[in-house]
Amino acid sequence: MKSYTLADIQNFEGKYPKQVWYLFLTEMWERFCFYGMRGMLAVFMVTELMFSEQESNLKYGAIQAFVYAFTFIGGLFADKILGYRKSLFWGGFLMIGGSVILTIAPQELFFFGISFTVIGTGFFKPNISTMVGALYKDGDARRDAGFGLFYTGINVGALLGGFLCVWVGKTYSWNVAFSLAGIVMAIGLITFYFTKKTMGPIGDSPLINQPDAKRKKKEIMVYVGSLICIPLILTMVQNTQYTDLFMYIIGPCTLIYLIFEMTKLTKVEVMRLFAALFFIFFSILFWAFFEQSGGSLSLFALNNLDNSLLGVTIDPNVVNNTANSLFVIALSAVIGLLWIWMAKRKVEPNTMVKFGLGFLFLAAAFYVFYATRFFADENGRTSLDVFTLAYLIITLGELCLSPIGLSIMTKLAPKHLWGVMMGMWFLASAYGQYVAGILGAGMANPNENASLPEKLASYTEGYYQLAIYALIAGISVIVLSPFVKKLMHGIK
Ligand code: GLN
Repeated sequence: MKSYTLADIQNFEGKYPKQVWYLFLTEMWERFCFYGMRGMLAVFMVTELMFSEQESNLKYGAIQAFVYAFTFIGGLFADKILGYRKSLFWGGFLMIGGSVILTIAPQELFFFGISFTVIGTGFFKPNISTMVGALYKDGDARRDAGFGLFYTGINVGALLGGFLCVWVGKTYSWNVAFSLAGIVMAIGLITFYFTKKTMGPIGDSPLINQPDAKRKKKEIMVYVGSLICIPLILTMVQNTQYTDLFMYIIGPCTLIYLIFEMTKLTKVEVMRLFAALFFIFFSILFWAFFEQSGGSLSLFALNNLDNSLLGVTIDPNVVNNTANSLFVIALSAVIGLLWIWMAKRKVEPNTMVKFGLGFLFLAAAFYVFYATRFFADENGRTSLDVFTLAYLIITLGELCLSPIGLSIMTKLAPKHLWGVMMGMWFLASAYGQYVAGILGAGMANPNENASLPEKLASYTEGYYQLAIYALIAGISVIVLSPFVKKLMHGIK
């Protein structure tokens, strides 16, 4: 087989390098496994482990936060020791290990299996995203579109996994559903195994020039170290009171680490990292609002929506769980190509403007969620059509921010810190998830026996507030953009 150099890869013709399709497929299967597991968590805890809804929600939130928080650690070890490829394999193996445990004894070993998923995702998720960025030369205007395409793969996997695993679990067997996640993850790893040759040097260990024995020793230390962490993670996901503590500690620790790394960089590199932190900070806010979808919006769908979408009868919770992924799949490549088209005509908005637009769409979407109250009947049930329109708008916002955020991390960080910065980008999602739960709880009507019209009023009032805050955030991003532009030193 042909051996690829970095130049062969980066000098591709056309819109996308072919490697992006391979990473698309690998990530698609990983997200199938991830979202399949995620979709099963709360239902399994309530129906099989007999936890109360409140406890399951708390545990679900904690698991989600931990999953994204460990991306920082996965990114860090990829940068320093393993490289992206080995990190992907290690992360994938751990995720498969988690599925095997859950297949064998889902009730008895539930949290043990989940701990493998937490750490496995930590090694996998940031590093595959970074590899996409490495396919492009500095300044290549096609990079954002590549991330857009990759993002479609994420959502195809999310949609299939989120739907199939819960369905198999509920109607057939949980053991089979958990095994499905593992089988699919294995397909992802096999895909990567057979296509990794086309990645040339991308993802090689940063220690490639060290003597084999020395490098291997360090690698083994990472593998063993991550296994040793599992009991620790197990304790933390089982006892949600540790989540707060963990979230208070991990963010400041990563910042201190970054400052330490900054001392070794040039002034321009440091400024660019500050710009990256600006995007990371705002993304926390974005996800905190956006992630209402798994919490308050799903309860809103359960209680306050009719079941007619454009005249077709459908369960509003199915719409709540799938509309976003479907809209991403439909629109992501289109928006990616729109950026390329605009870039050719030199009118492509820069990253700050795209981020600002992301928030403006977010604000508009929450305004529409709020406006559902004007379509309600006297029983407090409102229009699923209007609700779905809000999902279309929120997805446009996500597409202006999330793939662009991945892309900008690889533009702003020096190469040896790509993994760490990608990890920080996802750490922001961990905080977003965490804050989302708090916001959702704040919006819920404190009275358990509230009537449906009262519930409608209190949720939509909350969405109105979010719309205003999102609008303020969007305007702030745009107003601050000249300063951030300066920090970015020529990067767009
Ligand atoms: N939905 C995207 C994914 O799963 C983004 C997740 C996030 O950053 N919160 O990759």
